[in-house]
Amino acid sequence: MEMTFRSIIEGKPAQEPLIIAGPCSAETEEQVLDAARQLAQQKVDLFRAGIWKPRTRPNAFEGVGTEGLGWLRRVKDETGMKVTTEVANTQHVFEALKYGIDVVWLGARTTVNPFSVQEVADALKGVDIPVLIKNPINPDLKLWIGAIERIYKAGITRIGVIHRGFSYHGDTKYRNVPRWQIPIELKRQFPDLPIICDNSHICGRRDILQAVAQKAMDLNFNGLMTEVHPTPDEAWSDAEQQVTPARYQELMQHIVFRQPTTDDMEFLENLEHLRHEIDEIDEELLNLLSSRMKLAERIGEYKKRNNIAILQTTRWNEILERGVAKGQLKGLSEEFITVFLKAIHQESINHQEKVMNREDVAG
Ligand code: PEP
Ligand code: MN
Repeated sequence: MEMTFRSIIEGKPAQEPLIIAGPCSAETEEQVLDAARQLAQQKVDLFRAGIWKPRTRPNAFEGVGTEGLGWLRRVKDETGMKVTTEVANTQHVFEALKYGIDVVWLGARTTVNPFSVQEVADALKGVDIPVLIKNPINPDLKLWIGAIERIYKAGITRIGVIHRGFSYHGDTKYRNVPRWQIPIELKRQFPDLPIICDNSHICGRRDILQAVAQKAMDLNFNGLMTEVHPTPDEAWSDAEQQVTPARYQELMQHIVFRQPTTDDMEFLENLEHLRHEIDEIDEELLNLLSSRMKLAERIGEYKKRNNIAILQTTRWNEILERGVAKGQLKGLSEEFITVFLKAIHQESINHQEKVMNREDVAG
């Protein structure tokens, strides 16, 4: 389906990143206004807050409902920031429009369900409001595109997408694994569709928010959505991933917003593949180094039993000479090999020393 998109925020140049920040949920009027006042001092284009929260279990906080829309209106009036919230059904859309919400978004649990997406699309017919569409919780690009098409067919042309990662059952440091190749493929198919990275829901924790945001910027994404709360530890939802306005400011200051040097998705994709291979090799290197140190420790124990000194100059010279010669054949400079082997040798000695000076090894 051929689609042409208009900009999300009128007057904002397309190459400038769209910055969205605010609490996961609107909890109280004070909390919303406190967050908003602090974020209005920063370069935030859109203030976010969830009014209706799709929670896994019914006993969790499910949002304050319509009352919170009035708080968002106050945010607009007081700070001049535009505001956005999640809508998942007809009633949400009508209420949001009634209260002058500037932008609405579809959550991951809505995008996954074509009935819900269609319901929201129908409710939006004839309204010119920007809509941001989160990826479905499962890694299904077609389902994501289907949701975009449903909203577009309702006459909405100010559309953006939000990449918030995908559910995954294995061991991972993420709350939702990013699978970058999926948004990359979406961008390849729809080069004019803005992609915003929701680093908060990808990470589910604070310590990697900056790295994920940077990665999105390095991949030429068009914006960031981050959860910011005045007192994150006390948040009623998603406490672990929310940050204070001060921490958010610091984090944003460290992000390098790159110029889109190229629109060539093939280039970006290839680069991404190569970097992935490098990460795997680095991992292998670390595993090998760790095995090497374990062997050194065994040698240490052996030397201790036989009361032999750790440093064996002849042996070390042999390692160095052989390494330099072999490395040069493989295109590695003498300088690099020397530094590299010296560092390994030193670490090896440290491991041997640790073993030799340990009381529990028989001497
Ligand atoms: C949210 O933005 O707070 C939210 C519920 O996100 P998602 O739909 O990505 O889970
Ligand atoms: Mn959240």
